[in-house]
Amino acid sequence: MGTKGKEIVKDADELVKLFNKALADEWLAYYQYWVGALVVKGPMRPNVQAELKEHAEEEFKHANMLAERIVELGGTPLLDPKEFPAKSNCGYDTPKDPNVKKILEQNIKGERCAIRVYDELLKRLKGTGDAISFNTVRKILQDEVKHEQDLEDLREDIKLIK
Ligand code: FE
Ligand code: FE
Ligand code: MG
Repeated sequence: MGTKGKEIVKDADELVKLFNKALADEWLAYYQYWVGALVVKGPMRPNVQAELKEHAEEEFKHANMLAERIVELGGTPLLDPKEFPAKSNCGYDTPKDPNVKKILEQNIKGERCAIRVYDELLKRLKGTGDAISFNTVRKILQDEVKHEQDLEDLREDIKLIK
């Protein structure tokens, strides 16, 4: 980011730290969805796989959005994936049990954590004047809210199978 671009952002270092924590979340969420889509078993498997794959792609986009903003803010995106578990807010839920109900539960839990994290970030950014970071977080939050709903809908539809 250039001189004037930097001038309009307060607390850029603290924001870089918070965005790096969210970046760790996004990579872990990406992998959890990606591998979950490969191992999941049970009712409506093709629908569930498609949804998990779609969410994986969207988490990857979120990682990109955060990393690009981190660079703009003068920071460095986490360089070592070994840092992800310690830096993340929401952690990683290993899909050891491939049962579709269990996979959906784990990912719903992850989305609820993501919603909390981005909601807090959004509240923090509100009124700081950093409309660009605010907008990045707002867009991601909108996707996470949709992710939770999509997974809850699938869970509900599976329950209705007789
Ligand atoms: Fe995400
Ligand atoms: Fe998500
Ligand atoms: Mg979806």
